Amino acid sequence: MSKWLPAHWALWSAPRVVLGYVLVVDALALTVIGASFIGLDVHSHDWIRFGALVMGSVLHVEAGREIERLRVVVSEGTTYVNLKSMWMFAAVLILPPPLAVAVIAVSYIHSWARLRRSPPHRGFFSASTVILGSAVATMCLRTVNPDNHPAFAGGFIGLVAVTAAALAYWLINFALVVGAVLLSNPDANASKALGQLSDQLIVAGAIGLGVSTAALLMYQPWLSVALLITVLGLHRALLVGQFQFAARTDPSTGLANTMFWHEIAAKELERAQNTHSQLGVLYLDLDHFKAVNDTYGHLAGDQVLKAIAAELKHEVRTDDLVGRLGGEEFAILLPSTSADDTLRTAERIRRRVASLAIPVNTPSGDTVVDGLSCSIGAATYPAAGQDLDVLLMAADTATYAAKESGRNRVVTAPSRTPGQLS
Ligand code: GH3
Ligand code: MG
Ligand code: MG
Repeated sequence: MSKWLPAHWALWSAPRVVLGYVLVVDALALTVIGASFIGLDVHSHDWIRFGALVMGSVLHVEAGREIERLRVVVSEGTTYVNLKSMWMFAAVLILPPPLAVAVIAVSYIHSWARLRRSPPHRGFFSASTVILGSAVATMCLRTVNPDNHPAFAGGFIGLVAVTAAALAYWLINFALVVGAVLLSNPDANASKALGQLSDQLIVAGAIGLGVSTAALLMYQPWLSVALLITVLGLHRALLVGQFQFAARTDPSTGLANTMFWHEIAAKELERAQNTHSQLGVLYLDLDHFKAVNDTYGHLAGDQVLKAIAAELKHEVRTDDLVGRLGGEEFAILLPSTSADDTLRTAERIRRRVASLAIPVNTPSGDTVVDGLSCSIGAATYPAAGQDLDVLLMAADTATYAAKESGRNRVVTAPSRTPGQLS
């Protein structure tokens, strides 16, 4: 959960409350590090486990470095999560606290040097949140399971101890980072500050992997090589998948982008041809959208587009695909849908757009945009066209006809007589 702060976040120019918060967190982490040396008792097997965890962490970053670096760049200003907690949480479970802190430090310094050299104070703050989470996790382990050192033990009590430690590790870390985001960016709404659920699932997965790593290192150290290979393989595969996903979506609305929409439309049409089923296509162009920009500003226009995109998605089934073809034009693919149902869906969407009242921010204050409308062209396979180009052209022409005949309406592409079939 590192580097979760705005890109422009410069420490000394930050508001005093942010500066104070960061310095307190950093100072607390340094105190924890100092305190961890009290009663230190390190055995040779601890050094071996320490070496294994540092090596795992380093190999992990190195194996996915190219993609990981891009992820850091792309995520600048938003959330960047990774599986690093796997090694750090394993260290918390099985190493004496100063060595666990050393694993966290090496992991952060290595990532900073090899991925992206953002201002060091940010990495220091992120590492501090992890160190504080680790300290509370260690306390949990020792409270639930006071007789064991390392506190990582088997049996049901071990499960309780590890679960409590995992929750503490995650919660402290998460709360401290959310606190920093909220303080440094008071306008951030709660959902932005809390980040995406999927990010937290990645962290949960990393912590779970940390438990497995710790268990293997304690009881079957050689088998941890198998775990390392599994994790590196899956990590790379998932990262590549994530980037392929990014290449398919329109970043501002989250809808399919035009390339991906066409790719899926071609596949669905092929399926419709093979299964002798029907398929609907809707083209939607917002009416007089330029006037929205002119009245409320371009940023408000973008907010309207985002809200409409969400509504379109909401109005169709999960099997349907909404794409943004560009600007304020959308396409909706309706697999296994008759001409009547395609028209009904188009009408429902048209009415929905006309009923929207979308809150936006403008330079002169917050307001609500309503009175929107759209023109929709509907075309159905096979009636309106046999191949994709013809079908899409038919939908596009119908949209144009809807505009010509007064806007805020749906026009259905005419059926082609058999002689016209392509
Ligand atoms: P109509 O379709 O009814 O003929 O009128 P229109 O004003 O919507 O005209 P048209 O579809 O030709 O132009 C689209 C306008 O939408 C142009 C531009 O001002 C605006 N627009 C296109 N893309 C974006 C975008 O990403 N954000 C914002 N805010 N505006 C956009
Ligand atoms: Mg347009
Ligand atoms: Mg338009």
